[in-house]
Amino acid sequence: MPDNDMLQIDPSSNLIPVTGQGAGDAAIPQQALQISLQDLRQFLPQKQQGDQQAGSAGQMPSVISMPAKQGFSKGRGRNQIQGIVLHSSDGTEKSDVPTLRGGDSEHRVSSHFYVTRDGRVYQFVNENDTAWHAGQTVDNSRYGNSVTLGIEQEHIDGKQDWPETQVKATAGLVSYLRGKYGLGQNQVYGHSQVAPERKQDPVDYPWPTFNQYVDQGLTPRPQLAASDRDPTWQDLSQFLTR
Ligand SMILES: [Zn+2]
Repeated sequence: MPDNDMLQIDPSSNLIPVTGQGAGDAAIPQQALQISLQDLRQFLPQKQQGDQQAGSAGQMPSVISMPAKQGFSKGRGRNQIQGIVLHSSDGTEKSDVPTLRGGDSEHRVSSHFYVTRDGRVYQFVNENDTAWHAGQTVDNSRYGNSVTLGIEQEHIDGKQDWPETQVKATAGLVSYLRGKYGLGQNQVYGHSQVAPERKQDPVDYPWPTFNQYVDQGLTPRPQLAASDRDPTWQDLSQFLTR
């Protein structure tokens, strides 16, 4: 929370005392500096019908749809989506895209999504279908292909950084999917967490930065609820603490 030294608020008052520059000037009557909450209301964003609740789904990102030909199974049986697994591809877009569409006859793999280093998002497999991205995990009923969404990210392990644009794009996608499927932060995993004996990816992933961007995507700008009643300090406090 930023410091509010310039604006001392008495929650029991319906008036905003103005302090700081000019406030002590005898030429300006104290009365003239006082603004009622009703006066302020017109400046506040109004909630529109259909607006999302704070903390709900982020914006759907634009995706390049390129359906996989194979390397996935239709449907998820009776399973529901319970998590998201992040990967690093250890490759480049040029070779990763054909592989992740099931084009490698020796290693049939796929992912639902793929995020390039410059932040473009591909979708290869429908979310309701089972992409073959995680392989054997420590608990397939929680982390396996049939219950997770897989996001591959273009990254050569141990040799490249993670560009901000890419991390932001993945986070935007994850906040959208978390909202859509009601998933918490503790349901977003690295492949290395769910298959620790076999996998290290996503290698060197900047999780704190990623989590910050996800949170931003999940929290739209607050808006004053549509109501005929006069706003209260509780309504306004969310704007004053930004
Ligand atoms: Zn992986």
